[in-house]
Amino acid sequence: MPEIVVSHCHLDFEDYAQDLPEVLARARAAGVATMVCIGSGRDIGSARGAVALAAREPDVLAAVGVHPHDVAGMTEDTWTELDALARGPRVVAVGETGLDYYYDHSPREAQLVAFRRFVALGRAARRPIVCHIRDAHEPAAELLAAEGAREVGGVIHCFTGGVEDARRYLDLGLHLSFSGILTFKNAGPIREAAAFAPADRIMVETDAPYLAPVPHRGKRNEPAYVVETLRLLADLRGLALDEAAARTTENARKLFGAAAR
Ligand SMILES: [Zn+2]
Ligand SMILES: [Zn+2]
Repeated sequence: MPEIVVSHCHLDFEDYAQDLPEVLARARAAGVATMVCIGSGRDIGSARGAVALAAREPDVLAAVGVHPHDVAGMTEDTWTELDALARGPRVVAVGETGLDYYYDHSPREAQLVAFRRFVALGRAARRPIVCHIRDAHEPAAELLAAEGAREVGGVIHCFTGGVEDARRYLDLGLHLSFSGILTFKNAGPIREAAAFAPADRIMVETDAPYLAPVPHRGKRNEPAYVVETLRLLADLRGLALDEAAARTTENARKLFGAAAR
């Protein structure tokens, strides 16, 4: 079994406060070689937590940002600290950032302004961006094109669109990362996109503690469960499990690796 890269998880969250060592051990036993901990919660605390965890654990890397849900509360101090954190040696991406028009927890205008600024931050810090896009594929693709996301590089995490949405992001040079949602019964269009995407643009993730794949659906998710998503992705693409693992790992390493100094 080749090494698996989990491109997106939230190990800094309270959900793992009691048993993080066991969670990490199960991931390692399942073949997970690298976990990108997305430090992008309500405030800067999540970014700090992800950076601290990446400093402690050799197979954990960090991304830093503020989730689109919470950008309305960002201050200039937050931006200054994120800029400094993004340049850290174990920080491989900026995010998650993006647009969430499903929940609209922050006003859309504030989300757009922050998303633009995060693309600029990724460019300045020479880190790819991790994008969270929900019910907003059209405005997101427009913004990413206008802001030159192609040169920054990045991934649409937990991709939930269909082939047409996928095509837009792929045309911008971006990657697509698939989560446990791929294993849900109603995931038809996402599965079509997962079969359609070029082999050098696909990645896998858990978004743990959220979105546990079948057969763990409804429980707390964890990085070890990525295998279920990988298995389905392999089936959709007519690959063996180890081929799908090798492919997604190579893609993730290429995207995040240049920044992983
Ligand atoms: Zn997200
Ligand atoms: Zn996330």
